[in-house]
Amino acid sequence: MTTTSSLAFLPVLERIAEEMQHTPGRGRAADYIPALAACDPRSFGMAVAELDGTVYGVGEWRQPFSAQSITKVFTLALDLAREGDELWEHVGREPSGNPFNSLVQLEYENGIPRNPFINAGALVVTDRLQTRTGDAAGQLLDFLRAESGNADLDFDLEVAASETAHGDRNAALAHFMASYGNIDNDVPTLLDQYFRQCSLTASCADLALATGFLARHGIRADGGRLLTRSQAKQVNAVMLTCGTYDAAGDFAYRVGLPGKSGVGGGIIAVVPGRCTLCVWSPGLDERGNSVTGVAALDRFTTLTGLSVF
Ligand code: GLU
Repeated sequence: MTTTSSLAFLPVLERIAEEMQHTPGRGRAADYIPALAACDPRSFGMAVAELDGTVYGVGEWRQPFSAQSITKVFTLALDLAREGDELWEHVGREPSGNPFNSLVQLEYENGIPRNPFINAGALVVTDRLQTRTGDAAGQLLDFLRAESGNADLDFDLEVAASETAHGDRNAALAHFMASYGNIDNDVPTLLDQYFRQCSLTASCADLALATGFLARHGIRADGGRLLTRSQAKQVNAVMLTCGTYDAAGDFAYRVGLPGKSGVGGGIIAVVPGRCTLCVWSPGLDERGNSVTGVAALDRFTTLTGLSVF
């Protein structure tokens, strides 16, 4: 644990960790690639990062795991910072109500995905960041290393290779959107960038710290500005409405915070103006959200009264 002046929520985290040990039913680890299927669904870690960069946690809060779709928040922020509102001509910001890898709405909506957090939308965001920077995954990694203060953060190339080997659905999404002119780069380049992005390995501590700019209304760890205050609000809003697959309504109901989950079992959450959280437990429910992760965040906002509502 980091020993600094403010560990305001540590007693709450300790209580939650204790409660979660007795919670029955932890869900199942994602099994679409072997690297994720090997995770123990009983693992649990939770971290809080304060606005000043103090971070502390309970359980396996220093244990690296596969960030997967959590990275979609950071690529969205990095692209929005560069191109501003033009992005929204290429991707919407409405909940999809469909599974994260669904193709069905794309045909009705001319290849414009519903939001940046379903796979189709994330592919568009990565494509646009790739066009602007020439190395979307590299930009993501630089940003996460800087914000977390962890220079060892990296992609897991075995996970990325496994994603590629099982990547037919994402390839289909990318080709389909390309047929509408909504993808700039050639599809293999885009998929390589996207799968590396998904394979990022980081701990609860790293991800809670890296999310801090959203609690600081767009300000990075070094005091520089990534997003305008208004853009930070927009990213938080899209997280609240679209960040937890097709269960965002239930997440808002139970937790009441902007959040983003990944199939590695992690969830980041933002208390704007106050702190950020990351929880990890690999057992997922049928919609792809960590069972214990959602339960722990539910307890956090219930015990502290800190939600956006
Ligand atoms: N790599 C996964 C995919 O694109 C991301 C899944 C997720 O975390 O939602 O299928």
